[in-house]
Amino acid sequence: MKISRIDHLGIAVESIDEVLPYFENVLGLKCYAVEEVADQKVKTAFLKVGEVKLELLEPTSPESAIAKFMEKGGKGVHHVAFAIEDGVENALAECDAKGIRLIDKAPRAGAEQMNIAFLHPKSTASILTELCEPMNK
Ligand code: ZN
Repeated sequence: MKISRIDHLGIAVESIDEVLPYFENVLGLKCYAVEEVADQKVKTAFLKVGEVKLELLEPTSPESAIAKFMEKGGKGVHHVAFAIEDGVENALAECDAKGIRLIDKAPRAGAEQMNIAFLHPKSTASILTELCEPMNK
């Protein structure tokens, strides 16, 4: 697979409203999009740091993976997302062939018009890893 860059870091937060002043007023970053991803039961807020984005993830239901992550004591950085140049589907097939545990067997729709898929932290140096690409390239 061909990774061009880190697309974003996913950060688990209890409340976007509560943490946004830190990112905007202290770090001087700007939130340019807030989007609810019903499928994943999260509200997301995006900030740009040069080419890389921060994706703040607030659970909208106790059933959301983010809520469960925080329930287990998880805080802060939740996942690293790599931009895949030659297709998430290809990358998944390659990972599968190399024995990597996949959370998603096929790409699905994420925030910001992206196709996304997750690799299991058990196979990825304990880092929840997202592969992503724009839906319309
Ligand atoms: Zn993400």
